[in-house]
Amino acid sequence: MHLTELNLTNADKDFVWHPYTQMRDWVKWNNKVIVKGDGFYLVDSEGRKYLDGSASMWCNVWGHTQNKVVQAMIDQLKKVPHSTLFGFANAPSIELAERLLELARGMHKVFYTDNGSTAIEVAMKMALQYWYNKGKEKKKEFISLDHGYHGDTIGAMSVGYIENFFRVYRPLLLNVHRIPSPLLYGSRFTNERDLVEWCLEKTENTLKRHKDRCAALMMESGAQIAGGAIIYPTGYQKKVARLCRDYDILLILDEIATGFGRLGNVVEYLAQRSQPDIVCFGKALTGGYFPLAVTLVTRRIFDAFLGKYRYNKHLYHGHTFTGHPTGCAAALANIENYQNHDLTQQIKVSAEYVASRLPEFSKSPIVADIRYKGLLAGIELTKNNKPIVFLKNKEIINYFIMRQALMMGVHLRPLGNIMLLIPPLGIGKRDLEKLVNVQLKLLRKIEKLS
Ligand SMILES: *Cc1c(COP(=O)(O)O)cnc(C)c1O
Repeated sequence: MHLTELNLTNADKDFVWHPYTQMRDWVKWNNKVIVKGDGFYLVDSEGRKYLDGSASMWCNVWGHTQNKVVQAMIDQLKKVPHSTLFGFANAPSIELAERLLELARGMHKVFYTDNGSTAIEVAMKMALQYWYNKGKEKKKEFISLDHGYHGDTIGAMSVGYIENFFRVYRPLLLNVHRIPSPLLYGSRFTNERDLVEWCLEKTENTLKRHKDRCAALMMESGAQIAGGAIIYPTGYQKKVARLCRDYDILLILDEIATGFGRLGNVVEYLAQRSQPDIVCFGKALTGGYFPLAVTLVTRRIFDAFLGKYRYNKHLYHGHTFTGHPTGCAAALANIENYQNHDLTQQIKVSAEYVASRLPEFSKSPIVADIRYKGLLAGIELTKNNKPIVFLKNKEIINYFIMRQALMMGVHLRPLGNIMLLIPPLGIGKRDLEKLVNVQLKLLRKIEKLS
């Protein structure tokens, strides 16, 4: 691009290539530079405040100011800023693993990485090597759900779906067997029971047909968020778990976005009564303050990696920052804070408030479907039965929402034509009210422009 095409005053300030962003548009309108936090608000270099309406990419719990989690990180940094898990252990990583295994019942060991995507990659490598170590190296393929999202690295993209995002990277990706996602809206079913029955039948067929060459089934736990805020009907996940057991295919659950309270439960698979063989957590694990993710396995999986050195059964995986003590200290303090603040109870109250406000949205002629659970709600906007993409002012709907929201003092990131309510988990009543009100105002503006 030629430099004269850019607004140099903005472009000058910014040498950063932003994620999932058309950078040409970025320099035109988004030049807000966040310099500090204030409660659940972020403050830019010109002193304007924005309510963190996307929980800083779905991970923030306690807002953006000093608290016990931040203090625990500072204390840890003063003791030892980093020490590797290659050949050493460190105290916070041991304590955190113990804590996580108390919470995630049925799991036996914790493997650390530094982001959700790599936690998924590790889970995939573990599943593959589990069968290899068991002498069943033919079991090496994966099954995943339509509309699934598991991260942006190569393995994680392979088990994810998002056609538009990932199309160009297809030459890098694995072939994966797909099973349907239980989304009622837009399906040919009129009730969830028939839909679930159909999904499970398809799933069982796939498992049956490919059981000798499939290592694992990968799915998000409780809900698919990036794929469109799709909430699993009651009993669905439990039945998928049972099918995996019946056909001897490992179940990998991705709780990176849904674990630690998003749907109202700290450990979602327990609420879904579905025991995974491998489960991943990330995002809210540290309250959103440190890049840390974990992959937990059952004893059955772990034991398959034990053996004489020369049998090469051990897991060949590790990152420089694996088990970073600062991140582990943050997660430990975060978990303690959940208990001290009775956060799940607070989430329940907040979720009830959101639910009480949703009828105001469903009245709108452009709202086609609303899906919600806990502190997650997706509001699907359509016109003449088609997703709204462009508005009458020629603006793309998600740009419009983001830009207008900023002008109203809120940071939002919708999923295309799906407005997303996904606040920081510890948000207070007043801020939550503001968030809902702003989304309603945006809906009214979109009604006029669609
Ligand atoms: C965000 C997310 C990931 C990837 O985590 P990153 O830390 O962004 O790599 C994986 N799975 C789900 C469900 C997610 O929401």
